[in-house]
Amino acid sequence: MKSKAYEARLLHKTYPKADPYGSLSMPVYHTLAYEFETAAEMEEAFCGRTDEHTYSRVSNPTVQHFEERVKEITAAHGVTALNSGMAAISNTFFTLAWSGSNIVTSRHLFGNTYSFFTNTLSAFGVEVRFCDLTNPGEVAAHIDGQTCALFAEVITNPQMEVADLTALSRVAHAANVPLVVDSTLVPFSHFRAADFGVDIEVVSSTKYISGGATSLGGLIIDYGQFHWSRSPRLQSLAGDSPSAFHLKLRREVHRNLGAYMTPEVAYLQSLGLETLPVRYERHAATCRSLAEQLRTIPGVVGVTYTALADNPFYQVSRRQFGDLPGAMLTFDLASKEHCFRFLDRLKMICRATNLFDNRSLILHPASTIYGSFTAEQRALMDIKETTLRLSVGLEGVDSLLADIRQALSDKR
Ligand SMILES: *Cc1c(COP(=O)(O)O)cnc(C)c1O
Repeated sequence: MKSKAYEARLLHKTYPKADPYGSLSMPVYHTLAYEFETAAEMEEAFCGRTDEHTYSRVSNPTVQHFEERVKEITAAHGVTALNSGMAAISNTFFTLAWSGSNIVTSRHLFGNTYSFFTNTLSAFGVEVRFCDLTNPGEVAAHIDGQTCALFAEVITNPQMEVADLTALSRVAHAANVPLVVDSTLVPFSHFRAADFGVDIEVVSSTKYISGGATSLGGLIIDYGQFHWSRSPRLQSLAGDSPSAFHLKLRREVHRNLGAYMTPEVAYLQSLGLETLPVRYERHAATCRSLAEQLRTIPGVVGVTYTALADNPFYQVSRRQFGDLPGAMLTFDLASKEHCFRFLDRLKMICRATNLFDNRSLILHPASTIYGSFTAEQRALMDIKETTLRLSVGLEGVDSLLADIRQALSDKR
């Protein structure tokens, strides 16, 4: 697991400029524009020769402070904060892809990512190639000279397939393709994606990082490990520099798409970041304990959590995430009707979407997130009518079990 030496550095990271009031927290800079002493300084800043702020669609001191704190945890080369997880994903692919290129990935994808690839990007001539990411030979066969990225979710939601990042990065790098992963389900405070060969990490900071569903946000974390001279889109910028992706994103794509994080969200998420390691351990330990106990309850047909020793992804999950692989589990009941009846009877666990709120949240993926997909599409994505997805909050495990037991029991 990751060393926790970053915790003290994170908490004590101060803003680089002196604050006139000695403010202990980073102030929320609700300003759009920044004034310059001279025209020459203005020219330097606008032409990117100094790193002064110019306009808050491009950068803002409060957001930058949040980015720097994420950098403190991840030891990344570049971090960019956007206003949602989907903005992080779309900005990443508008930086990497070109018309005629393809993305190699799995059908096991977060619903909007699937739709972004198949509906939105396809209109710009970008092809998406689905394959079985647990089969390296099949992945290699889908990659060619026009592949802009290999994309995976570290644990897929809700199928709970674990990406073997070491194996995937080997296949990607052998073909001169970057590995991009969505690590929303296991935060970077707990595992360092770059140690397993990941080049770019995208995160919905709406989830664990926001600190209890306070705000939408997304992060693009660039580890500066990929040789961008191998990317047909970025090679002209690359030279010997590991910064080509970061420069293209910061100097062009994110400015043009206009989805930068706002200062008040950066403030909230910066607070969330301070308690992230502590909250994550509690969320995930409760989830593991619940997974072990849920399978003994009559009426529960199966439980999927990758720290269970008989889970097919147990070994790879353990290698990457230790004994705490996230705070989401799924379980199956006999039928959709059983699922609905159970949901309706819950008294404490909230019937709501989102992940890693302080409260536990539950939903029936097939009828909600995947409700607008056809039955054939759901079958291809392995979305079953019998599955419930539970995001485990900060309640005690006994309270959660009591609610689940009463909702499953025949007595009313
Ligand atoms: C929620 C989620 C997203 C999208 O994040 P938003 O902040 O809602 O835009 C992307 N990927 C995964 C795995 C998610 O759970």
